[in-house]
Amino acid sequence: MSVSRRGFIKLLGAGTACLGLSKLGIDLGPAQAYAAGLKIEGSKESISICPFCSCGCNTLVHVKDGKIINIEGDPDYPISAGGLCAKGAALRSLHVSPNRITKPKYRAPGSAKWVEKDWDWMLDKIARKVKDQRDKDFVLKNEAGLEVNRLESVFSLGSSQMSNEECSVAHQSLRSLGIVHMDHQARV
Ligand code: SF4
Repeated sequence: MSVSRRGFIKLLGAGTACLGLSKLGIDLGPAQAYAAGLKIEGSKESISICPFCSCGCNTLVHVKDGKIINIEGDPDYPISAGGLCAKGAALRSLHVSPNRITKPKYRAPGSAKWVEKDWDWMLDKIARKVKDQRDKDFVLKNEAGLEVNRLESVFSLGSSQMSNEECSVAHQSLRSLGIVHMDHQARV
């Protein structure tokens, strides 16, 4: 009888299923003893996707007492078959690392020091900078006299942490300003 790894762990968590398997003559004793010592025991498992690049490897996320306790590759996903590269393997640190930056930081021109700011201050600052730059450099027509409506002096570097929907909104917002140069850091 063939049981996937994920299905197998789920079955271990369900006493009735275990009973059913044991009735089929499968001895789950050693596997149950092993699973009882696993850190994911008693956790809720959800399927998610690594956000770091367009490979989109499936992950299994284990949550216990409202906290992510483990993230690993999904062995049932046909593309990566449970594998994750170094970035995907470190995915849990995105949520739990004490080094994670959770507030905006600003470094003034010429300064080597990062200063914590609140979101209102930061959004006003970004809006002011973009507006000033756009007023200064917006190109209505190119050298041939064709209307182009573009802003070439602003570059947007986005994030592979963004969902498709967030990327769509960001893309439309940037285009509406005439910005033509954009990318994100998932081009590994
Ligand atoms: S960063 Fe690595 S683990 Fe994440 S989707 Fe890309 S290849 Fe997969």
